[in-house]
Amino acid sequence: MNDKHPKTEKTLVIIKPDGIQRTLVGEIIGRYERMGLKLVGLKMAVPTAEHVEKHYSLDPNWKRLVGEKAIASYEKKGQEPPSRDPIEVGDRVIDGLKKYFTSGPVIAMVWQGAHAVEIIRKVTGGTEPRSSDVGTIRGDFVLDSYQMADTDGRAVRNLIHASGSIEEANAEIAHWFDEKEVLNYRLVQEAIMYDVNIDGIWE
Ligand code: GDP
Ligand code: MG
Repeated sequence: MNDKHPKTEKTLVIIKPDGIQRTLVGEIIGRYERMGLKLVGLKMAVPTAEHVEKHYSLDPNWKRLVGEKAIASYEKKGQEPPSRDPIEVGDRVIDGLKKYFTSGPVIAMVWQGAHAVEIIRKVTGGTEPRSSDVGTIRGDFVLDSYQMADTDGRAVRNLIHASGSIEEANAEIAHWFDEKEVLNYRLVQEAIMYDVNIDGIWE
């Protein structure tokens, strides 16, 4: 089989401490499962602050980008951002994320399937639950906003982390999982989703 076939794509999902406390683990896993994606790695842990900092530093541009995104969202609402320096805003978000991720157990998972990164982001919904679409996990189950999180000096609580790109996914999976912890197995339903011919239905 061609290693580059879209069905081999993998992504990292973390159910953040609020997702576990809201008892949404089954709901979240069910949403991804029903898309046809395959769970190939799973662990429950309390990450250290260093592990979280490293996770968000895997992409050296992430801090600046998250700062720029936050500043733009304030400007769009005609409000003054807490700072005009994206790195300073990014540092604040990282501090909040370290407290958020270490406040209780999280579940880290690797999901595999065609366009896994894109599909998981679509089902998960946009970063800010206040504006994420109805029908997405963040849009349906949580009500947090940039405004409320920044007023209270904490990270936006949005239940889930999901890798934003294939490169991000590969780096993040390696950060959370040993190679042997990501399993290579077949799901029976994959024949229906991926095989060129659908055979073996008729008795
Ligand atoms: P994601 O990929 O949708 O999770 O979003 P990002 O990678 O941009 O940000 C990572 C996480 O940081 C988000 O899921 C939020 O928990 C938090 N976050 C992002 N932007 C902000 C912000 O402007 N303010 C606050 N307080 N938290 C933020
Ligand atoms: Mg992200």
